[in-house]
Amino acid sequence: MKAGNCPSAGNLRGLGLIARAMAQNRISHAYLVTGPPGAGKKQLVEKCAVFLLCQDPDMDPSHPSACGTCSSCRKFQRGVHPDFLELKPQGRYIKIDQVRSMQNMIAFAPLEGKRRVVSIVSADKLNINASNALLKTLEEPPENTHLFLAAASSSRLLATIVSRCQALPLDQEKEVLGRNFASPASDQASFFLEYVSGCSRELSGKMLEDGILEIRETLFSFLCSGKKKELFFHTSQRIGRSRQALDLSLTVLNTVTRDLLLLLSSDFMQDRHLINLDKASELIKLAHGLNYDSLMKYRKLLEKAERYLERNVNPGMIADALLIFWIKEEHRY
Ligand SMILES: [Zn+2]
Repeated sequence: MKAGNCPSAGNLRGLGLIARAMAQNRISHAYLVTGPPGAGKKQLVEKCAVFLLCQDPDMDPSHPSACGTCSSCRKFQRGVHPDFLELKPQGRYIKIDQVRSMQNMIAFAPLEGKRRVVSIVSADKLNINASNALLKTLEEPPENTHLFLAAASSSRLLATIVSRCQALPLDQEKEVLGRNFASPASDQASFFLEYVSGCSRELSGKMLEDGILEIRETLFSFLCSGKKKELFFHTSQRIGRSRQALDLSLTVLNTVTRDLLLLLSSDFMQDRHLINLDKASELIKLAHGLNYDSLMKYRKLLEKAERYLERNVNPGMIADALLIFWIKEEHRY
């Protein structure tokens, strides 16, 4: 396969790194590519994948490439290679079930050749549960399986995931995404909005219109209050007033849980990688009163709430459950 469909025909640095690792039999289990939309992340991942799967790759260090003619290359080109797995968002996120079914598949030896490649090009779309499930694979990677993650920025991933991946350089580093992303909202919440909208201006506009920032404020006021019982009714009414409001609330609570887990797992060292960056001081205070186990429990509750919402359970009831958890938590201390 020639340069693929990358307009720049570039990305030789990243592919060169893979080729060298392959020659030395030291290919990493996980790589992470970061760069703004349009920078060629997907192309680089595909080039590396077809190269790793090829039965007769050209190892020329100045221009490594897959042969393009072996049965593996042909299957890859037709999109039917059995050892190439892609995890893509279903709806807004990549969900835990998708990660689990990938894990079931990689538990067995590759079908076609020596290796298997898993591509997660929208790794910033892994929801918190999916991220934590993926972490298991990164901690104990099966042999001959290589994961390629890509995201606009590593700050959008759990620090524990980032630390287990080797960085793969893109040839063209364009301007950091955050600077290009013109958000109609205040700069304060721009990190948060970028994250939840996947940097889609259209989706971010729609979420703003639907009141996601108001919902976030309501939730933070509740979470940071020492009088949660008194705020319970008001908060529940707001976040459970409709399916749409509850859906947005779940989005917010997922980012809050992710941020709190990040703080706890990094001894508060990763505060600049928070999604709710403008709420760092609130989150740090909140995290001090929490432990990892309760947060994991809350993550499970959020997962359950998502399923209930899909099954048309009354949003008000789901909202109550999401808030009561925090009231109970407050009384444990
Ligand atoms: Zn080939």
